[in-house]
Amino acid sequence: MKVAIVIGHSTYSRGARNKSSDVSEFEFNEKLAKDIKANWSEHNLSDEIVLVYRENGYSKLPYEINDLDVDLVISLHCNAFNTTASGCEMLYYHKSVKGKNIAKIFQDKLTDILENKDRGIKSKDSEDRGGHLLKATNAPCIIVEPFFIDNDDDFLNATDDGGALVEGYCDAIDEALKYLKS
Ligand SMILES: [Zn+2]
Repeated sequence: MKVAIVIGHSTYSRGARNKSSDVSEFEFNEKLAKDIKANWSEHNLSDEIVLVYRENGYSKLPYEINDLDVDLVISLHCNAFNTTASGCEMLYYHKSVKGKNIAKIFQDKLTDILENKDRGIKSKDSEDRGGHLLKATNAPCIIVEPFFIDNDDDFLNATDDGGALVEGYCDAIDEALKYLKS
């Protein structure tokens, strides 16, 4: 199977930011995506991970992903609100049973690793933020928001983990593929 890991935002619009460390969502997730792909390639030879950048704007993104003919789409983001809100949540398309089940797999795995607040999985429709991507991809798609990047405690917790987050993602992808193959 083939998995698209979509790096949220872009070089020209980098998303939310941790002000203390001057790290944006785009920077954090680009490194994370590369680390996930490297870790994955060491352990899994039969399923492939491809990294996807938002190069031509958000509206075209789902169709560019569909052209890659992937089986699963994981979009990497971070939450942000008021610098004190914290925790982990996953977004999925409200009509997608597979999306919901895969969101649950990721939510369980990443809250286990990060030991942060479990904000639960959240269904979104096409009008919601992220809804266009969730709706228009052919493969099941989730948006991962494992912590709040504008919250210093959340940010340090996620970055000070010695690679545990990378392994958590790989475990979750592995479990999601097993589910899709079953
Ligand atoms: Zn984002």
